[in-house]
Amino acid sequence: MNAPNTAQSVPAADHQAQIAARVKAIESLMIEKGLMTTAAVDRFAEIYENEVGPQLGAKVVANAWTDPQFRERLLDNASTACAELGISGLQGEDMVAVENTDQVRHAIVCTLCSCYPWPVLGLPPNWYKEPAYRARMVREPRTVLRDEFGLDVPDSVEIRVWDTSSEMRYWVLPQRPAGTDGWSEEQLAALVTRESMIGVGDPEQP
Ligand code: FE
Repeated sequence: MNAPNTAQSVPAADHQAQIAARVKAIESLMIEKGLMTTAAVDRFAEIYENEVGPQLGAKVVANAWTDPQFRERLLDNASTACAELGISGLQGEDMVAVENTDQVRHAIVCTLCSCYPWPVLGLPPNWYKEPAYRARMVREPRTVLRDEFGLDVPDSVEIRVWDTSSEMRYWVLPQRPAGTDGWSEEQLAALVTRESMIGVGDPEQP
């Protein structure tokens, strides 16, 4: 019996190749119509491969951990606070940082597609764009965090899941690990993981 012809039945590598071919076709069309240049596409790829990534978010987090006034400004308006550190750009116009505490932890998802705060986290990981994460994270976050990310959240801690959109891009200010008193911003930033800013993990422990 033939397998049904659905996206699910296509092997992952073929599926990736199909997406890559479609992206290439769209890119060629945009260049042909003068909407974009090859140089611009190359530069864009270079920026998001080498320059913009979670190391920028980690820098913001380390700042918030060491400067209470900056932390307040970050929670008040993440886009303007990040701009103070020279961090801004596409898909970061309306960012909201939500702070983990002993009582509440936050996680982000885009149920519709893959909206994500690019200036602080770079491009989203593949799993963030998968329908399974997008659907399950809002229905059963505690189970997803435990089974998919190895993160056991005690029942006493509330989990809030934020649906990120093109209008509002949430990300998480994780808790500063214990045992880091007197650490420099650089040392602290090295503990901050991408997962901890998505809310599906914790920072590294010292
Ligand atoms: Fe989206």
